[in-house]
Amino acid sequence: MTSLRLFARLSNWAGFGAGGFQRKWPVAWSRLRSLLMAGSGATVVVLLVRVTGLLQPMELRSLDWMQRLRPVEPVDSRVVLVGITDADLNWLDTPFLNDATLAAVLQAIQQQSPRVIGLDFYRNLPVEPGRSQLDAVLQDSPNLIGIEKVISEEGQSRQDGALPGHPILAERGQVAASDVLVDQDGQVRRGAVFPATTGARVLEGLGTRVALDYLAGEALEPDLEEELLTIAGITIAPLERYSGGYMRLDSGGYQILFNPRRTAKPVELISVRDLLTGNVASDRMTDRIVIVGSAALSAADVFYTSHSNSYFRDSGVTYGMELHAELSSQIVSQVLEGRPALYSLSEGSEMLIIALAAFGGAVFQLWLGERKRNLGLVVAFVGIPLASYGSFAGLGLWLPLIPCLGALGCASLMVTLNRSSQFKTLAERDALTRLANRRRFDEALQRSWMEGLRSSQALSLILCDVDYFKLYNDNYGHSLGDDCLMRVAQVIQQSTVLGSGLAARYGGEEFVVLMPKATAQEALAQANQIRERLVALQLPHEASKITDYVTLSLGVATLTPTMNLPMGALVEQADVALYAAKQSGRNQAKLYDPAMEDSSEELPQAV
Ligand code: GH3
Ligand code: MG
Ligand code: MG
Repeated sequence: MTSLRLFARLSNWAGFGAGGFQRKWPVAWSRLRSLLMAGSGATVVVLLVRVTGLLQPMELRSLDWMQRLRPVEPVDSRVVLVGITDADLNWLDTPFLNDATLAAVLQAIQQQSPRVIGLDFYRNLPVEPGRSQLDAVLQDSPNLIGIEKVISEEGQSRQDGALPGHPILAERGQVAASDVLVDQDGQVRRGAVFPATTGARVLEGLGTRVALDYLAGEALEPDLEEELLTIAGITIAPLERYSGGYMRLDSGGYQILFNPRRTAKPVELISVRDLLTGNVASDRMTDRIVIVGSAALSAADVFYTSHSNSYFRDSGVTYGMELHAELSSQIVSQVLEGRPALYSLSEGSEMLIIALAAFGGAVFQLWLGERKRNLGLVVAFVGIPLASYGSFAGLGLWLPLIPCLGALGCASLMVTLNRSSQFKTLAERDALTRLANRRRFDEALQRSWMEGLRSSQALSLILCDVDYFKLYNDNYGHSLGDDCLMRVAQVIQQSTVLGSGLAARYGGEEFVVLMPKATAQEALAQANQIRERLVALQLPHEASKITDYVTLSLGVATLTPTMNLPMGALVEQADVALYAAKQSGRNQAKLYDPAMEDSSEELPQAV
């Protein structure tokens, strides 16, 4: 007996006893389970939602906001804009800039010896008068880069949308691509370093080309090995299909994230009128990049960027020429001054960060007290945007802000829901045996009784009581007594899984099985099955007066509810049957019989 008790104690302590670990560390165990479920659940939910592209608009908007709020940088004085404004066209008294005026503009610029000129006009066709003058200027301008268009507009084939450049420039290879990449929401957030080209031709975008020519003036030559553009050891890393908040991006060609400066005031634009009337300082363009293009709203070469129409800079629109200028400045500054490029982490690293946010949210909910928890969540919901802004402004790193906030919120919500469902379980379940508790049984009995009244169908009940359990406790101790009750409860629970009904702990070492719609014979059969299964387990009970293993006595009653019967009659009848089973020697199941009522009065109380 001593060795048996010792073994039972040891296995219980090591967590192998029935539910030993869960019983000893219930709080830690349920928290760990909640953490794993909420953390991984929220991560998976957010990653799935993200991959559908539903978060993309919000993620791009969050990038715009960070762009708008970024620290002010000085204007890049290496890049000068010469724009033909609507006021200029009015002054020139013409709706278009003709070739003669363009030739005069270019001549005035060349007089200041710029390092490179980007001409953001196609001019594949003459705009007379002045074609011959323009041709003469272009012949004399080895530092001038014109444009052609290589990618089609959406919906057209590439050939349809393409536009050639000026023949003289095209012949000399002094052309670059004018293409601008516009996101689905109509905003420009990417720059085309090399737009997708037809055939094997690799053509730079205008911004890239003038930047490369400018850097060549500093004796820095580009390197395009293994499809990576590197200048003076600085890699201009291209975007991939999944970059930052972009999902399944059409990343054709060689694209980078557009990283415009936020300047205190709009970049000054030299107007054609000022240039032609000598109203510009004589060294304003010397040794610089000059971008010449349209700054007229009537010309429709306008785009939207994060800085367009913002609260901080009311430029309304961004002209195509400004985009090319911005991109060239971005490349030159990155190579010469190490200005951080805008980049995002690899997909794997982003998933890890999202998972961290989810698990962080779950940890807050699970391990912080109520007041600290709310404070923790507020800190996290403020801290994540701050950290993401900090990494953007300081390092140029675009972190998955929106998915992290989503993961944090989702994990917190999952923990809260799980907690309230645990409370519900606690309120309905018996803590020791995990069966339904008395409260849940009473509710179920009431429901089944009402149902029985309506349908006039029979309702059965099995009442079980462990034999000589007082002696079991006295012999093995209360703790092993508890374990024994759990094993008995498991047997009863299994019978309802295999058969039917609701198993509940009625109180102490008494259990019930409520069987709606079951006949007396079905209920008696299930009662006998319970008894036999328990016997088969041969749980030792040396103090029992009938056997040396644990046994049950069971009383079965079946009633069809009627209006003049009280609901308690069913339990009372089952109790009478149980009493009869005890009287008849225990370890048996008895079906209620009215005759039992008379005899029960006479028989003495069982030991
Ligand atoms: P009988 O065969 O006539 O049913 O004999 P019995 O000893 O089982 O008699 P009775 O039903 O009166 O004894 C119930 C005992 O069950 C008394 C109480 O100490 C024990 N008991 C009730 N609830 C618990 C419990 O949660 N844990 C343990 N260990 N014992 C319990
Ligand atoms: Mg009892
Ligand atoms: Mg008993």
